[in-house]
Amino acid sequence: MGLRIHFVVDPHEGHIPGILIIIFYGIAIFCLVALVRASFTDPGRLPENPKIPHGEREFWELCNKCNLMRPKRSHHCSRCGHCVRRMDHHCPWINNCVGEDNHWLFLQLCFYTELLTSYALMFSFCHYYYFLPVKKHNLDLFVFRHELAIMRLAAFMGITMLVGITGLFYTQLIGIITDTTSIEKMSNCCEEISRPRKPWQQTFSEVFGTRWKILWFIPFRQRQPLRVPYHFANHV
Ligand SMILES: [Zn+2]
Ligand SMILES: [Zn+2]
Repeated sequence: MGLRIHFVVDPHEGHIPGILIIIFYGIAIFCLVALVRASFTDPGRLPENPKIPHGEREFWELCNKCNLMRPKRSHHCSRCGHCVRRMDHHCPWINNCVGEDNHWLFLQLCFYTELLTSYALMFSFCHYYYFLPVKKHNLDLFVFRHELAIMRLAAFMGITMLVGITGLFYTQLIGIITDTTSIEKMSNCCEEISRPRKPWQQTFSEVFGTRWKILWFIPFRQRQPLRVPYHFANHV
């Protein structure tokens, strides 16, 4: 039992500075909070009777699947059965749509998964190439074999996750910089329609609901939509 706790909580037996271990668990907590909140936050579901602000009617349209009015750039998710404002995609990993109100949490989830996986891989490789040879003769064979198996499994999962999430995170970032959702990119709808090109700080601020860049990394907060002129923010 003592050995197991040691392996899970601090497998490096004091070889790695405590602060690095604390940072690791800090990133893990941020990652978990982003995961839970991205899964359970309403992505931007349209109400039955939306109040359409005066002067914005031209930017709304009727969904031909649920017969409800929705702002342009909304999309009907066939899996969830409703329209979502500025929907990016339906994510099976979080079993939720990624839309206007939880896109920021989804990005944080990608970011912290990326960070956590790199960190875990770094620990694994240090352990394998440096710490294991050092203590090899101190351990009985059974423990050594099992430790090695868990570490190989962790390294394999880490590399798989890192490759997958890097691709996803990259396309997500490009999508935000170019202010195009994944659905719009797939349907190529925006190539014909010219939109005012916004600076990246503006597009990220709109997704995260704040201009404070440090807050872009914090999953423990409430998102407030930025007050940008509607036609500028959402008109395609
Ligand atoms: Zn709909
Ligand atoms: Zn959905």
